Amino acid sequence: MKKLDVAVAGGGLIGGAIALELAQAGLRVGVFDQGQPGCEASWAGAGILSPAPESPGTIPLVPLGKASMALYPEFVAAVEELSGQSVGFRPKGTIDALFARDAARELSTLIALHHGLGLKAEPLRAEDARELEPALSADVEAAALRPDEASVDNRALTQAVMQAARKSGVEIFPGHAVKAIWREGASCAGLALQGEKVSAKWTIVAAGCFSSSIEGVKPYAPVRPAKGQMMALRSDALEIEHVLWSEKIYLVPRNDRRILAGATVEYLGFNKDVTAGGVQKILSAAIELAPELANAKVEETWAGLRPDSPDHLPILGPTDLEGLLIATGHFRSGILLTPITARLVREWVTQQRVSVDWERFSPLRFVPACRETTT
Ligand SMILES: Cc1cc2nc3c(=O)[nH]c(=O)nc-3n(C[C@H](O)[C@H](O)[C@H](O)COP(=O)(O)OP(=O)(O)OC[C@H]3O[C@@H](n4cnc5c(N)ncnc54)[C@H](O)[C@@H]3O)c2cc1C
Repeated sequence: MKKLDVAVAGGGLIGGAIALELAQAGLRVGVFDQGQPGCEASWAGAGILSPAPESPGTIPLVPLGKASMALYPEFVAAVEELSGQSVGFRPKGTIDALFARDAARELSTLIALHHGLGLKAEPLRAEDARELEPALSADVEAAALRPDEASVDNRALTQAVMQAARKSGVEIFPGHAVKAIWREGASCAGLALQGEKVSAKWTIVAAGCFSSSIEGVKPYAPVRPAKGQMMALRSDALEIEHVLWSEKIYLVPRNDRRILAGATVEYLGFNKDVTAGGVQKILSAAIELAPELANAKVEETWAGLRPDSPDHLPILGPTDLEGLLIATGHFRSGILLTPITARLVREWVTQQRVSVDWERFSPLRFVPACRETTT
């Protein structure tokens, strides 16, 4: 039987970064993935790093997003140094373009909302936005510049995190599906795999949208997959610097001149088909935002499964089983929230206290008995 200090179920960006952080703290860590690590949502994402809320329901996430954003430059530097791999971090800001006829009013509401949440945002007239990004459509009426936002090549980052983790002593086990948490009375003693048990003082469930399929986890992490279709475009005639947003689409430039466009949000179980309707939706909104994209080459299309929770907020922290922590449900912000997730889990495991309040994201909020005692 394998004996570890920490057993991590799931080798996506979240599980990998937690493993890296804990190995750096001197613990013996193993990561168990049912397939090849880093091939699910962390591969499929767009890599936008934006703490701005996408809807009123995600406002409680803003402080965590800001804390993670603040950690990003040092996280990237450490991962690049340890792995020897570049992760395509682009701290170039975001432009949110408005098409509405009452764009001026919409813009002032948007700016006020951001400032109220302590997020930097500057109003731009349409002509100033187009001076910054000539690719923007002539129909854009106004825009907001969020200068502190960034993007990262999440595929490169995930591979680099895994490599950094290996170099820091983490043992990574591809093709090791976790069947169940290993429960002993009021404690979690590790993980149960097919025909094998792994003993660990600490067990971390970070299996993305699949977490709820691990026996014993569903009460804490009732996550479900939210499919997102994406595509990569390439155009030699087009230079895009910032991440561009509109109400319908985002465009994310990479250092290799690819422009990612996405994404749909669909609840269709674990289906990952790229559909004609999905492609049509993405392309028409992308061309509406940056018309020159009509001449771009379509290089790749794909779909991935975001881990969504019932309230669309992450599920982070200890459970009522001693030694069991959950780190999933990051939905549309898992790439952004990786550094803070890894930091908070490390703080809890090594000191049993955390530097950023994570009570709001407790896995116990879904457990009826616990919910009753806290309300
Ligand atoms: C189209 C799309 C666009 C996105 N864009 C962004 C963005 O711009 N910015 C942002 O911040 N976030 C974005 N996200 C969200 C982000 O990608 C996810 O929140 C994040 O990658 C989740 O990481 P994870 O490690 O929890 O899950 P995953 O990357 O899905 O990893 C889970 C891992 O667990 C493994 N696993 C599953 N079940 C088991 C088991 N039983 N035993 C062992 N291993 C198991 C899987 O094989 C997988 O490797 C996007 C997601 C999608 C799909």
